[in-house]
Amino acid sequence: MDLSAGLAMVAIPGPTILPDAVRAALARPMPNIYDGPLIETAERLVARLPDIAQTSGRAFVAGGNGHAAWQMALSNTISPGDRVVVLESGRFAVLWGDYAAALGAEVEVIAGDFRSAVDPEALASRLADDDGSIRAVLVAHTDTSSSVRNDIAAVRTAMDQVGHDALLMVDCIASLGCEEYRMDEWGVDVTVAASQKGLMCPPGLGLVWANDRAIERYRSRSGQAVGYFDWGPRLEPRGFYDTFSGTPPVPLIHALDVALDLLEAEGGLEAVWARHEVLATAVRAAVAAWAAPEGIEFNITDPEHRSNAVTTVRTGSIDAEECRRRCEEHGGLTLGIGTIEAPGRSFRFGHMGHLNPPMILGTLATTEAALVSMDAPLGGSGVAAAAAEVAAGFSG
Ligand SMILES: *Cc1c(COP(=O)(O)O)cnc(C)c1O
Repeated sequence: MDLSAGLAMVAIPGPTILPDAVRAALARPMPNIYDGPLIETAERLVARLPDIAQTSGRAFVAGGNGHAAWQMALSNTISPGDRVVVLESGRFAVLWGDYAAALGAEVEVIAGDFRSAVDPEALASRLADDDGSIRAVLVAHTDTSSSVRNDIAAVRTAMDQVGHDALLMVDCIASLGCEEYRMDEWGVDVTVAASQKGLMCPPGLGLVWANDRAIERYRSRSGQAVGYFDWGPRLEPRGFYDTFSGTPPVPLIHALDVALDLLEAEGGLEAVWARHEVLATAVRAAVAAWAAPEGIEFNITDPEHRSNAVTTVRTGSIDAEECRRRCEEHGGLTLGIGTIEAPGRSFRFGHMGHLNPPMILGTLATTEAALVSMDAPLGGSGVAAAAAEVAAGFSG
């Protein structure tokens, strides 16, 4: 029976659900781009962005998605022939590394296994052997395929241990606005993100933050970024038109400005991180309660490294695609597809962005209903366990 009438719940790990205020901002008429309020809004937005990554560095805004941000970050800092080390813990850092290779870098992947975090010690021992040719280390904060959360401060500590001066470049596309992230304190040189995940906007903006070391590298590199992605004109804009390399992506600027207002109104980043932590804990409580031999289990084995933005669930003998189909067709709930190995044997809960207890508890209860309807082997009900975590959040 189709019970899906009502609000559709899309629980994929991006694009995420848009707040009404963001949707309204997107519908504003196009303003004059040479004069007037847009200029003020756009300048305010660029000035507010460093705080979102907890840095005093520069923020750059590109029309484009996360891949565009990847490219902007690399093409301004990497020269052909540079050696780049990629720390694997899922798909994304490796794909980012492919862009570095396309730009002429010698890319070396420190292999990971998709079920655990990157190993800072393995990086330290590789860097200890280096003759100075390694110029950058690429890592994802949260890898959205495996749902791991890597310890970025520990990666920097490993680099410092061996006194290596490679740039540390971090993909925060899934984690920014969801997970605690402190670019300056953790010693990150370049951060990339995009508009459509924790930042609660549609896809279309690639965001890059760079500290002084990264800007210095930009000035001394042997040249890659040209035209639109080049930091040069954006660093010393003769006006608003240079800040965005031409006509700005106006609706997205309006949207992101409003989204940042929402984060502020909630009490700032710390409050937003705390909400994600409670809701992610509820998801994990449900998964732990469902877990059973031949059935549900966490993809990430170490609880310390499970992301607060996305959870990859392995389903053992249970047909994950059938579960997703039942959720969607009968329940109005869209779950994320599994992107780890073993096709059809995993799915993902996106729990990033504009999300509250009815949305997350509804998601978990609907998923449980689908699993029960399939006679899936379940250790127990996850709904009560999830509600208990939300209850703890109510009184916390
Ligand atoms: C979504 C995502 C990307 C890709 O972003 P696009 O906007 O699709 O280019 C890259 N890295 C991570 C960690 C992501 O979650």
